[in-house]
Amino acid sequence: MSEATRIPELFGSLVFNERTMEQYVPQSAMDVWRGCLKSGQPLPLSAANEIADAMKTWALEHGATHFTHWFQPLSGVTAEKHDSFINNAGGGRVMMDFSGKELVRGEPDASSFPNGGLRATFEARGYSAWDPTAFAFIKDGSLCIPTVFCSYGGAALDKKTPLLRSNEAVSREAVKLLHLFDSQKDVSKVTPQVGPEQEYFLIDRELYLKREDLRLCGRALFGSKPPKGQELDDHYFGVIRPRVAAFMKELDEELWKLGVLSKTKHNEVAPGQHEMAPIYCDANTANDQNQLVMETMKKVAERHGLVCLLHEKPFAGVNGSGKHVNWSLSTDTGENLFSPGKTPSQNAVFLLFLAAFVKGVDEYQELLRCSVAFAGNDHRLGAQEAPPAIISVFLGSELQSIIDAIVGESDYTETERKTLRIGVDVLPSIPQDTTDRNRTSPLAFTGNKFEFRMLGSSQSIASPNVVLNTIMAQELEEFADILEQSNDFRADLQNLLHDTFKAHQRIIFNGNGYGEDWVREAQRRGLSNLRDTVDCMPAYIDPKNIRLFSGHNILSETEMRARYEIHLENYCKVTSIEAATLRDMVMRGILPAVNRYTADLTQAILHKRELVVPCRVEEDLLSKLSGLTASLYDTMAAMEQAMDQAPDAEGGIEAARYYREEIGRRMEEARQSIDRLESLTAAEYWPYPTYADILFSV
Ligand code: ADP
Ligand code: MG
Repeated sequence: MSEATRIPELFGSLVFNERTMEQYVPQSAMDVWRGCLKSGQPLPLSAANEIADAMKTWALEHGATHFTHWFQPLSGVTAEKHDSFINNAGGGRVMMDFSGKELVRGEPDASSFPNGGLRATFEARGYSAWDPTAFAFIKDGSLCIPTVFCSYGGAALDKKTPLLRSNEAVSREAVKLLHLFDSQKDVSKVTPQVGPEQEYFLIDRELYLKREDLRLCGRALFGSKPPKGQELDDHYFGVIRPRVAAFMKELDEELWKLGVLSKTKHNEVAPGQHEMAPIYCDANTANDQNQLVMETMKKVAERHGLVCLLHEKPFAGVNGSGKHVNWSLSTDTGENLFSPGKTPSQNAVFLLFLAAFVKGVDEYQELLRCSVAFAGNDHRLGAQEAPPAIISVFLGSELQSIIDAIVGESDYTETERKTLRIGVDVLPSIPQDTTDRNRTSPLAFTGNKFEFRMLGSSQSIASPNVVLNTIMAQELEEFADILEQSNDFRADLQNLLHDTFKAHQRIIFNGNGYGEDWVREAQRRGLSNLRDTVDCMPAYIDPKNIRLFSGHNILSETEMRARYEIHLENYCKVTSIEAATLRDMVMRGILPAVNRYTADLTQAILHKRELVVPCRVEEDLLSKLSGLTASLYDTMAAMEQAMDQAPDAEGGIEAARYYREEIGRRMEEARQSIDRLESLTAAEYWPYPTYADILFSV
């Protein structure tokens, strides 16, 4: 079979998508299902039974024996609990069963998922409910049913629920605003479109197994920069090595089977670093699929004797890994609302949505920053090769000049004003493609979409999308409120654009985001610069943000407080695991190894002295190594004491601050000694593979 026929056949072959459903599900049930999708009503049991039965038939044909409700708890990874289809048929026989009830609702014993106090301990169970807008699929012999995960009180215990709510909110508000334009009356739904670019490292599995830090923490806790890094720029877009190419080929095929439109693959900046990008799709599917992408990458890597590292900063001093979320809004009439139009009226809509976006990002910059804050990403954001920790929007020079014209309008005379008027009929034409891409911006307009570049490579894309959707919903609602009252639509639209861009232009920055100058300039503009997770988390419980989220029914105050607690607790736990791992490696690996080396050096010095041979080199090395091991030993003792006295990880912001300052800081201190030791210790004594070994291993 040629690839031209094989790949289309392969694509989606493990997904119970609409086309497959049509083959297996009776027409009447399909109609009910489609009706429910439109109305948002729950599926009646009779239709659920028919769909479940069809799913089971299809799944058994494809070798599945189990089913699982597949959900996305607040840990940020997916969870599943597998049940087989077998049922007792009596007389020692079994039959394969799957009911509508089992399809639509599950009760995983979920007491040990993070819940931030949302589920009282006596109430050990939450429930999972089928998200009928997402298709079931087969993975590892199990039929996976994408579900939301809630407490019995209805509180969201997962990442998918708020995403679905925010998709609805932005659609509702966008449609309301669009209906004020004659040309947009046909729009009945607006959907966020998302294309997440995924970066990752591939390293040799044998070397990985030799490093406890990589195995337990996903990142190297020490290691000096390799002699050769990314300075020659020879890896980026470079020829893909055979072992990596084989991995990528298999990854593509596995993803295609799961219906993921895996499209682009290339080498990234750092040695050992790569990227995969799918073709964009609706935010809910993109979110589910990105989880599958991460999981599949890890699984396929193992089959090739490799390990896929998704940590955002596996190797300090070397480029970290991010995830770029490309985000736009499209109408069910096929328009991208962030695409500058050809007609004046399309341009008015474009500028209005652009204004809403700029305003939203400015007003809720802390919340947006907060959505990408966690221990792993703290090592990356604000470092030289990653976006700064300060939120700003890049628009490019062409769009900027249009905004300057809008903002400057009031200074023009009446005649000049006429020609510049950004009303409905006289609009400047807006370039269709802004090509001057600024790679240093955390949030860049790239022609017809925004690219949010601050996400860490390992994180779920749900929360950042929830924030983007919700701030947009909020601003669109405010705009609609103003324009609905209008007696002179053109003039009021004009004024709204003018006032909005004028009030929020401080968030727009087209310059170099990596420079120190920008930090000062941002401060002058009053933009917030939240350096790490501990600084970011209070945004979750800021009354302004609680109002935003609860106002659009995305998350209630209780749900937000739960998230605040969970994220802080996670920060403490990650830091604590890393510290314990470092301690283990230093006390049981590094110090004994260096001690062996210094003992041998001492022997050599004694011998040489007996023979009256000069031993300046040995003596010099010995004194350096002894100094470093002593200071490392002291740092370890101080860190251990700090760990003994550490508050409980559930101790909120105070605990998190303690972990950052008392434990994280000492790990950094220890690292400096270790990296010096590594460069002075003979290779045959050093117990762990170095960066150079690992990064150039594949
Ligand atoms: P680059 O590396 O230049 O950013 P890529 O091709 O790696 O470009 O990634 C661009 C991503 O943006 C792809 O996932 C693509 O499908 C996605 N994308 C393109 N247009 C849109 C859009 N209108 N809305 C959302 N995502 C989009
Ligand atoms: Mg990109």
